[in-house]
Amino acid sequence: MVNQVADTRFFNQFFAAQARVTLLEPFVFEEAPARHVGAIGVSTVKGDVHLTVHLPEAYPQGEALFYPQELAGYPHQNVTTIPGHGGSLCLTTPFVDQLASRLKLEIEKLQGWLEKYYVREKADEQYEYVPIRAAKGAHLLFDEEPADYTPERFAEQHSGTFTYGLLRSEKISAELAVSAPVFLCSGLGKMPARWAPTVQAARFTGVWTLLSKEPVLQRKTRMECWQDLLPLLPADFYDLVRQLGLDQHFRRQSPSALGNHFLLAVGYPIPGGSGQEITWDILLLPLSILRRDASSITVQDRFDAFGKKRLLWGVSSNAAYSRFFGRGQLPEAISGRRVLILGTGAIGSCLAETLVRGGLRMLGLADFDLVAPGNICRSRYQFQDVDSSKVIALKRHLLSLSPYASVQAHGSLSATMPGAKKWQETVDWLSKYDLIFDCSANNQVLATVWHAIPADRIIHLSITEGAEQLIAIVGDGACPLQERREQLLAHLNRPLYPEFREGAGCWHPTFRASGANIESMVGLAILELAEMARQKKKFRTFSLHHTPGRGIQVIADQQYTQVELGLKLIITSECLEQIERLALLHHPKEFGGVLIGNYSEAGDCAIVSRIITPTKYKSSPTSFTPDPACINQQLRQLPEQLQYLGDWHSHPDGPGQPSATDKATIAKLAAHPDVRTRSPLLLIAQMRQHQVMPHFFVQHQGKLHNYTSTTT
Ligand SMILES: [Zn+2]
Repeated sequence: MVNQVADTRFFNQFFAAQARVTLLEPFVFEEAPARHVGAIGVSTVKGDVHLTVHLPEAYPQGEALFYPQELAGYPHQNVTTIPGHGGSLCLTTPFVDQLASRLKLEIEKLQGWLEKYYVREKADEQYEYVPIRAAKGAHLLFDEEPADYTPERFAEQHSGTFTYGLLRSEKISAELAVSAPVFLCSGLGKMPARWAPTVQAARFTGVWTLLSKEPVLQRKTRMECWQDLLPLLPADFYDLVRQLGLDQHFRRQSPSALGNHFLLAVGYPIPGGSGQEITWDILLLPLSILRRDASSITVQDRFDAFGKKRLLWGVSSNAAYSRFFGRGQLPEAISGRRVLILGTGAIGSCLAETLVRGGLRMLGLADFDLVAPGNICRSRYQFQDVDSSKVIALKRHLLSLSPYASVQAHGSLSATMPGAKKWQETVDWLSKYDLIFDCSANNQVLATVWHAIPADRIIHLSITEGAEQLIAIVGDGACPLQERREQLLAHLNRPLYPEFREGAGCWHPTFRASGANIESMVGLAILELAEMARQKKKFRTFSLHHTPGRGIQVIADQQYTQVELGLKLIITSECLEQIERLALLHHPKEFGGVLIGNYSEAGDCAIVSRIITPTKYKSSPTSFTPDPACINQQLRQLPEQLQYLGDWHSHPDGPGQPSATDKATIAKLAAHPDVRTRSPLLLIAQMRQHQVMPHFFVQHQGKLHNYTSTTT
């Protein structure tokens, strides 16, 4: 329980003891609301400023409020709420859980504010919206980008009509913040809105007009009565109101939520973007101003008669795309694409939602499945969605998130082949999209897409059991996606298809993974892709590996090309990092081992996914000889899909080219009957000042050819 007397005494003593502060009226405790109220004077070079101070009973909890008795309309000053005072100051003092320390900070902040804004009359670089004492009558969302303000836009017309629909009506709650019915509008200042067509339902008409300046009195005090606003209205405003007064339909169509009012949006330029932009405020106007009577009173006379009548301001917010997604927009190379998601299970639905929240405008969803109760725990579906089409339920959910998203729902992609009956139809609908995420975990679907559209538009995402790994395979032109997927899963020792079956039946195998597993892996995969896009790099294949307690490792493909022979080489960043570590560890002596992986079906792409090192070897600064028995023993233990591809060794402070011995060794290898590949690879890890640079070569038909890096 607060000791009322002692606390009030504390505040009196505290303020009286501050330099350049005088206690004008001692603090007294008020019961409702429970607070200490007093008045102080703060001296400045421009003279004393008198302020009424409100300190909540629980202070330092809550906020201290300082109301200047004579200053109004300054930056960081709220609307006036105490008669005869200016609005309270917005000091944003950090919270400190100690009474005297926090109050000390408040005084410093207050003196800083007075010095900056009152004494030196500084203006902020950032435009500050004028505080508004709004009626809770209406809240209008508009779509106005900085680039929309051009001189031509208002060359002929300064007033017009706009349309709006009810986004949501709100009841007043006793405990929560009171809110107004929210409207979404289009056509303000002749600018067609860019909301997705699905979000604009019921249509009403309002009036917009461009004011000659910001509707403020001196400094930043919002105009409160009609006689101040009238000189700012353009001449064509009255003509328009007169015409609308003759229009029965206009007079009858205002939403009931507005009572007997209609909406007037007033626009004016404010600083924004690199120059100026228009902002819109709204006023509620009585419908009676539109009355049609026989008297000779003009519309302008009717407005003039408002005189000192209060302006009924509503609330408005700019919900333009750049504001809506400004805090968290994904790069345009993702959000600006026409994206199709094949398979809307756990991964696909999570991906869809993250992309839409990142500003995606055009999205297609394809899945034939219905929502099952078991989906909810890790997908973006609701309990009420059970047994409804996944794509329809997800579409509904996504449209409720963003007013800028258009979503197309499709059935599943049927796996097909060039020349088959459905082939052209499949190609046609896939071609409507320029980025396709395959989340179907189905190699047949992946192969169909790979044949149907350019490979660099495809990204395959799938997880392994327990979401220990996520693999993101990108069509980089080196080898078919389904082959890269199979190879990656073989390297990880993971099955190609899920094996876990829920209940009876063989038709729904799935991987075990919680919503947290899926969300974190999919979220990180999107971050990796976004980073590639931000750096203007091509998307490339990568995998994410989660080790509890140690976080997530990202392993990405590095690509090399042998131009003359038309050969590709892929090596994972993990292999390269391992080679770098070993080369550095054995410096100044050479070290080396064997490259493991496989060739693509077509035989033109080598994929190195593993390295093997000997435990027995001979080495010097210029030579390295592994013990063959030790290597062979390890080769015999490899999974069937992985094989020997070639050798690697380091050249500490040596050349990036193979030595005569290196050339002789690789030529002998290529001819050896036990070696399955006729074109073995050679990797020289050249070391310069503890930097390791890989150089790849291939022995082909008696000649050694070098590869060049194509990873951008
Ligand atoms: Zn060498």
